[in-house]
Amino acid sequence: MELIRELELAKKKMTSWRRHLHQNPEIAYEEMQTSDFVTNKLQSFGIEVHRGLGKTGVVGVIHGQDSGGDITSSIGIRADMDALPMDEQTNLAYASTHPNRMHACGHDGHTTMLLGAAEYLARRRHFNGTVYCIFQPAEEGGNAGARSMIEDGLFDRFQMESVWGMHNWPGLEAGRALVHVGPAMAGADIFILTIEGAGGHAAMPHQTKDPIVAAGMVTVALQTLVSRQLDPFDHAVISLTKLEAGSAFNVIPDIATVGGTLRTMKKTTRKDFLQQIENVAQTAARVTGCQVSMEVRPGYPPTINHEADALFARKVISDVLGKDGLDTDLTPTMGAEDFSYMLQQKEGAYIWLGAGKDSPKLHSSLYDFNDELLPIGASLWVRMVEAKLPQQAG
Ligand SMILES: [Zn+2]
Ligand SMILES: [Zn+2]
Repeated sequence: MELIRELELAKKKMTSWRRHLHQNPEIAYEEMQTSDFVTNKLQSFGIEVHRGLGKTGVVGVIHGQDSGGDITSSIGIRADMDALPMDEQTNLAYASTHPNRMHACGHDGHTTMLLGAAEYLARRRHFNGTVYCIFQPAEEGGNAGARSMIEDGLFDRFQMESVWGMHNWPGLEAGRALVHVGPAMAGADIFILTIEGAGGHAAMPHQTKDPIVAAGMVTVALQTLVSRQLDPFDHAVISLTKLEAGSAFNVIPDIATVGGTLRTMKKTTRKDFLQQIENVAQTAARVTGCQVSMEVRPGYPPTINHEADALFARKVISDVLGKDGLDTDLTPTMGAEDFSYMLQQKEGAYIWLGAGKDSPKLHSSLYDFNDELLPIGASLWVRMVEAKLPQQAG
């Protein structure tokens, strides 16, 4: 491993920042103290700070030796800042001091790794161009802080050629990292099928159009979509998670609803399957004379790494963490991530940084970010910047 010595020496300091953030978790769009903390640190490093994008988002701008103003010499590196609405059970000395608030996804660590990198980059400036350090709110819970920052002009005000994200990953050894070429995380959409029939007396079903029978048929019919309509080399999950109908044992109701999530890895599969879910549901329900309408609540799109950037990141990982430090085995996950919105607009990739084989799982009440990763993640960020924005020779 070729970590940056100065960042190794800064581990103790970074650990104290991380634990401070851990003790004071804030959830989506409430990251007031966290964004104050980030701002104060960036300003103390002499970095230009812009606030208020996506309510609590922060952007730090670091110019290299020759910033030029050329968009091809610019890079965005992003960390998320929000915690989760849950109680912590770790009993750590620096456990959350707020009920129903916990950094159980390691965003305290992500914020700290980026701060550590920012401090080093601002002091050394061994790069040519401009680095935008993006601290975003509200990644969790479908709150789409990344999208909020984009809507507030992130990419208009700060012209960057590519954007990069990093997430700690329990189950992968600490000191190893991974970048998928192509899809890394799924897109997740909620759909709700409202089946409208004509209710009546349970004793006289022939005078009704029974939406409960239709709901049953729709439920069964949807099971064949992934198994029969999906390319075996593609990935998708349809889970029906809500079934609602009826209010009395002797009344056939007018309406039944069937709801669930669709998770996909490709834009085209997502579009196609949303259409297919509606078609299949309509066909199945028609047998009983019922009508179906579908509401889609779009969730995060799939996180798709740009191929050339993923390969580039793999090279940086091998350079910093050594050949064995690069994992290429872990499969993508059907979980979703709002960094996907940034990758829809910019080149770049999303890196998984191993948090340890035995690390408690993300979103567990026993989870704690592994502080050993602080100099590793910060070194990766710095080397990524320096490789992407190399200084001219001479
Ligand atoms: Zn999370
Ligand atoms: Zn997370």
